[in-house]
Amino acid sequence: MKLTIFWHRRDLRITDNTGLAAALQGEAPVVPLFIFDRDILDKLPSKQDARVTFIYDAVEQLAQETGGASGTMLVCYGKPEEVFEQLLKDYDLAAVHTNEDYEPYARQRDEAIAKLLKQKNVPFTAHKDQVIFAKDEVLTKSGTAAKVYGAYNKAWRAALQDDSFQERPSRQLFTKKNLHRIDQAPARPTLADMGFERYEQPVTPAQLLNKNDVEHYDKTRNRLADDHGTTHRSVHLRHGTLSVRQLMSQAQELNDKLLDELIWRDYFMMLLWHFPETAEESYDKPFRRIEWRNNQEEFAAWCEGRTGFPLVDAGMRQLNQTGWMHNRARITTASFLIKDLLIDWKWGEQYFADKLIDYDMSNNIGNWQWTAGTGVVSAPWFRIFSPESQLQKYDPKLEYVKAWIPEFGTDAYPQPIVDHKEARQRALDAFRAARK
Ligand SMILES: Cc1cc2nc3c(=O)[nH]c(=O)nc-3n(C[C@H](O)[C@H](O)[C@H](O)COP(=O)(O)OP(=O)(O)OC[C@H]3O[C@@H](n4cnc5c(N)ncnc54)[C@H](O)[C@@H]3O)c2cc1C
Repeated sequence: MKLTIFWHRRDLRITDNTGLAAALQGEAPVVPLFIFDRDILDKLPSKQDARVTFIYDAVEQLAQETGGASGTMLVCYGKPEEVFEQLLKDYDLAAVHTNEDYEPYARQRDEAIAKLLKQKNVPFTAHKDQVIFAKDEVLTKSGTAAKVYGAYNKAWRAALQDDSFQERPSRQLFTKKNLHRIDQAPARPTLADMGFERYEQPVTPAQLLNKNDVEHYDKTRNRLADDHGTTHRSVHLRHGTLSVRQLMSQAQELNDKLLDELIWRDYFMMLLWHFPETAEESYDKPFRRIEWRNNQEEFAAWCEGRTGFPLVDAGMRQLNQTGWMHNRARITTASFLIKDLLIDWKWGEQYFADKLIDYDMSNNIGNWQWTAGTGVVSAPWFRIFSPESQLQKYDPKLEYVKAWIPEFGTDAYPQPIVDHKEARQRALDAFRAARK
């Protein structure tokens, strides 16, 4: 009997899933698949990783739901090519559907899988699902990727159609009739089987927004101490436990500023697709020559939140303890590392990549390079955020600082490790020298 595989990756949900809907509309019954990819897992620095636990739970939930609808979800642990080679031996595949992933590694992986399947005449189709507009869909009038966010935002909004946010009927089609049950399916790997320990960090449930949460988003989004000032949906957008179409549609209705922020996400994914090299180095070539100081001790102080700059330290401690950091603190901590400490932005980007539960390569790279002023987006390299002014503006009562730095205001709290004014000048000189 012929089977269609639907391969889940960054779309760990049944509702409003483009690729899943397409698979379920085909002739052959569907077996959903998830691969715990050793090419990714083997590189993680810790065996206690909140993301792996989050993904594991989400996949278990999908497997339960698939079983509840009389189907079987295959969950494998290995290298994707090897997994597919085995699937080709075990089953007669009619087609493989998935949703597009724009990261450089994912693109190479998908090309290799498509090639492998092609040898056996199995069509491989990747659908656009995790953004509204991808790749070349929103360009400037001259046909290039926009380097100014405002221009992209305008073009993005102009390209919107009535059905851009329309729900895909995957949930409705997810029935016994369209799914396949595999007798004696292989057991799903546990976290321990894959060498990981359970490590949970707090996440907001995967629920759509409620009006009260985002009604005043434009006013609350920069209030560092306000737990409800932003949506905390980034982890769900990263892993697809919520649909971006549904969230965009809500944002459009409830708060236009939130739509702007979500458009940044589309923007950075589009930029990474056009400029994959920015994952490794500054887009702006002269800035690849910056003479970074890269002082290990100062880097450790930054990572551990003991720089003596309260907003920087509070942000880093929030990240270390929860796997999430407020956007305003992400900007301030990143700017401090790059400019005040003159440490290569890639060090900070990597630290965030290891710690953030919502780590998303395009957003992380895009925002780090935006803060550095070295990226595709035209942001001035000479802009240097003052950690003190940011604090006065966005945490005037020091509530955020006191929540994350219990020893704040005592002798136990360190003195500033640099003089901001001098460090600022040092950074300007180093950036300027690189441009000569
Ligand atoms: C240095 C730095 C690194 C970052 N790294 C990441 C990352 O790895 N993953 C990540 O998802 N976001 C990243 N961001 C963007 C932003 O900080 C987070 O998306 C946001 O804090 C997540 O919280 P939220 O869901 O409550 O955001 P909300 O304010 O509620 O925003 C809603 C959604 O809009 C999107 N969004 C908001 N701000 C941005 C932005 N500046 N750029 C792109 N998308 C945005 C996110 O998907 C977010 O979930 C980074 C920002 C900076 C300055």
